[in-house]
Amino acid sequence: PSMTRGITKEVSKVSWDDIGGLKDLKKKLQQAVEWPIKHADSFARLGISPVRGVLLHGPPGCSKTTLAKAAANAAQASFFSLSGAELYSKYVGEGEALLRRTFQKARLAAPSIVFFDEADAIAPKRGHGGSSGGNVSVGERLLSTLLTEMDGLELATGIIVLAATNRPHVLDAALMRPGRFDLVLYVPPPDAEGRHEILGIHTRHMKLGEDVDLRKVAESTDHFTGADLEGLCREAGMVALREDMSADSVCNRHFQTARDSLRPSLTKSMIE
Ligand code: ATP
Repeated sequence: PSMTRGITKEVSKVSWDDIGGLKDLKKKLQQAVEWPIKHADSFARLGISPVRGVLLHGPPGCSKTTLAKAAANAAQASFFSLSGAELYSKYVGEGEALLRRTFQKARLAAPSIVFFDEADAIAPKRGHGGSSGGNVSVGERLLSTLLTEMDGLELATGIIVLAATNRPHVLDAALMRPGRFDLVLYVPPPDAEGRHEILGIHTRHMKLGEDVDLRKVAESTDHFTGADLEGLCREAGMVALREDMSADSVCNRHFQTARDSLRPSLTKSMIE
């Protein structure tokens, strides 16, 4: 594979079942992303134009990237990813060039999903924030390149753009016009039920002691993100190994110790 991020076509192996909770959200993404690609003929028959862009917003570590990959995998689409922050930091003109090249590759490899992480960095609100002249114009040029590319996505090309941000309010209103990011979905932090499912997923391949009650662990991990819970499972395993390198299972006390050593990433103010 090529070394340049954004141009590399990634093969996504993540499935919907690898994502805990978020049942309704997964259904909405299936219909918005998977259906138009898998059932393009039905959309054409009824004359429905699929959404071209979906904006995922919500706190970090709560599976926005994973959802985009799962959607691509389920639709058997090629997956291209771009980071807004990375584009923004490039030399003048290089970010736009990378954007255009990525869309070109996506068209050639269609059906494709183009995923923009940290979209707020690509599309800073015009005149928003205190950044000085030069930076504003970088953002504006990237934004206008993105808008041009999105406007050029024709009905039949089978390309859907998924963007992710923690700060939806900074996005330019131009991105929300019809034919661009028509669908805006909030990806919330997991509730106890969701955390239980996420813990189940990340302990799938772990040897658990009989005294482990993942529901209890879920209840004691308020404000933990999916990423935090993944870390918790790994840490519980490490605690068991530190105690005894020949341990044959990870027990409740290991989860307890791990839980007590970790702090959740989310604070009340981060939850929209
Ligand atoms: P960021 O905004 O920081 O990019 P994100 O919302 O895109 O974060 P991901 O990168 O998708 O989050 O998630 C980080 C990790 O946390 C993933 O590798 C995944 O394993 C785990 N994770 C997060 N949410 C879930 C979930 N609902 N179910 C299972 N795993 C999850």
